[in-house]
Amino acid sequence: MPLRRDEALVLARYPFRERDLVVVLLGRAAGQLRVVARRARSMRGSQATATEPLAHVRVSYFERAGSELATLDEAEVIRSAFDLASRPSAWAAGQVVAELALVYCQPGQRNEPAFRLVERCVACLLGGHEPAAVVGYAELWFLRLGGVFPELDRCGVCGAALPAGSRWFDRVEKRFVCAEHRPTGGASRISAAGVVWLQRASRLPLEQVGEAPPEDVAGWLAALREGFTEREVKSWRYLRLLLKEGGA
Ligand SMILES: [Zn+2]
Repeated sequence: MPLRRDEALVLARYPFRERDLVVVLLGRAAGQLRVVARRARSMRGSQATATEPLAHVRVSYFERAGSELATLDEAEVIRSAFDLASRPSAWAAGQVVAELALVYCQPGQRNEPAFRLVERCVACLLGGHEPAAVVGYAELWFLRLGGVFPELDRCGVCGAALPAGSRWFDRVEKRFVCAEHRPTGGASRISAAGVVWLQRASRLPLEQVGEAPPEDVAGWLAALREGFTEREVKSWRYLRLLLKEGGA
């Protein structure tokens, strides 16, 4: 059983057997990874903190031949995300980001850009960043990293530069189009404010994108992701409720 070491983010955990936990990690080197933490359900102190959702940890684990589950050896906390628990929308936004990582990152496939994205999102949430901005940014960047984010500033048919202002998105071909190539049906309009948000979030670090995406863009990003991953992100519903209530 080879011992491996990695830096990782805790995406989820669930009870396993009588006293164990399965911890789902996003490793900087290993990608998505499931480890069994033995007797973790009665664990206290720093070892328990190291399996909390969104914690940034240093881990060592034993890989087992022929098994999807590795066995956790040691986990040391680099940064806990426990402070988010007192802020429901920030906590819920963190859950959405973790669920997006689960949907996009394949087990056993190195995906360091995704690791860095999730790490930045959690750091910004801990720093008091607007939760809806963080989630919108994560939606956009997971699409970009997945190679399925459409060219924003050129028509997908003729390549003409699209003028500033609102633009049309062909939902069937999944591309932005100029006025001439706008299909008669199946096109969505993205507002001018939405286009500016998408341009800014595509170009700038999350720290500089403090505002939530306009409603039309948030819905458009979610539809694009659902079309690509064919999965619903369940924690989104809870976050949407919290954001509507205005609870921060
Ligand atoms: Zn065109």
